[in-house]
Amino acid sequence: MAHVTQNKINIPMLDIKAQHEPIKEEIKQALKDILDSGQFILGPNVRSLEQEVAAYHHASYAAGLASGTDALYLCLKALDIKQGDEVITTPFTFIATAEAITYVGAKPVFVDIDNSTLNINASKIEEKITPRTRAIIVVHIFGQPADMDEIMSLARKYDLRVLEDCAQAFGARYKDQMVGSIGDAGCFSFYPSKNLGAYGDGGMMITNNAEVNEKVRLLRNHGTVAPYRHSFIGYNSRLDEIQAAVLRIKLRYIDEYNRKRSEIARIYTSALHPAVQCPAELPDRTHVYHQYTLRSPLRDKISSVLKDNNVSSVVYYPVPLHLQEAFEDLGYKKGDLPESEAAAETVLSLPVYPELSPEKAEFIADTALKALKT
Ligand SMILES: *Cc1c(COP(=O)(O)O)cnc(C)c1O
Repeated sequence: MAHVTQNKINIPMLDIKAQHEPIKEEIKQALKDILDSGQFILGPNVRSLEQEVAAYHHASYAAGLASGTDALYLCLKALDIKQGDEVITTPFTFIATAEAITYVGAKPVFVDIDNSTLNINASKIEEKITPRTRAIIVVHIFGQPADMDEIMSLARKYDLRVLEDCAQAFGARYKDQMVGSIGDAGCFSFYPSKNLGAYGDGGMMITNNAEVNEKVRLLRNHGTVAPYRHSFIGYNSRLDEIQAAVLRIKLRYIDEYNRKRSEIARIYTSALHPAVQCPAELPDRTHVYHQYTLRSPLRDKISSVLKDNNVSSVVYYPVPLHLQEAFEDLGYKKGDLPESEAAAETVLSLPVYPELSPEKAEFIADTALKALKT
């Protein structure tokens, strides 16, 4: 009979419908107001969301954009990163981080990661700095803040710009600062599966630099300075009112969402440590667990036993960027960035979302442990 009960369990990586359920009336009302207003692009909801996100981060400015990828791209443009420049970043991230670098004609330079945080290894950055290096894109991967003090001090020493890719880290803190507010600009994605997710594509950049803010706002809207007056060639990268309204509602719950994610993480870590390598919990920063990513040489076995029990798990990321076919031209080969390559072979992300019950998290942890024992 236990077998029959188990078969009913079906645990996805995330459950967007479950997140919608308790806020659906608020969302319906907000959508109705927008439909009645007839204003769909860059309206009052976008303006209010920008103010609220800037205030949440204690940052001076925020600009709503079409996606996280665009946020990175437009910020690089606003910082005047261009052809001939080099931009240092991590190979252990979603491809968009490095794509944005190539969009402006610059060259991504990959620096290996730290084995315990999976973030860029700050102590390996300096050896990759050349006279062409102009910027560093730091990624707070899976919601774990990177070593910002070390990175900012290198940036000051070599006069480099710093972009924070916060696509997976909305609400994470580094010491007494919010991630995204530490470098020259912070870039966010509101893709539905992110820890702050819209009901479609969306993105945002935050900054304390008035010039960057001004430039990004013009870039997102065809360089329009006054109606049908364009001071330079821009893009169409605007956030729409429906996404902004959804995000304004979810923003009120983001700290609760993140807290629930870290409760799930605590359940996993207390059950799984030291049988697998659990995510590092560092005293000076808050991980928001966009993903709960363990490491084990037996991760394929864990994944298949979870699957047998109808529990999802995913390998983020199976191939580091320096070994992707898309970046073949950069000339990297296997063995160049061994920590990233080792991570790609041992990581496994378990389901983590605010609506996942502690009982289910315990079941997942127990199932993973059983996989290691058989
Ligand atoms: C999702 C993601 C992006 C891209 O965001 P989009 O909104 O999908 O364009 C960039 N960087 C990282 C680390 C991401 O996870």
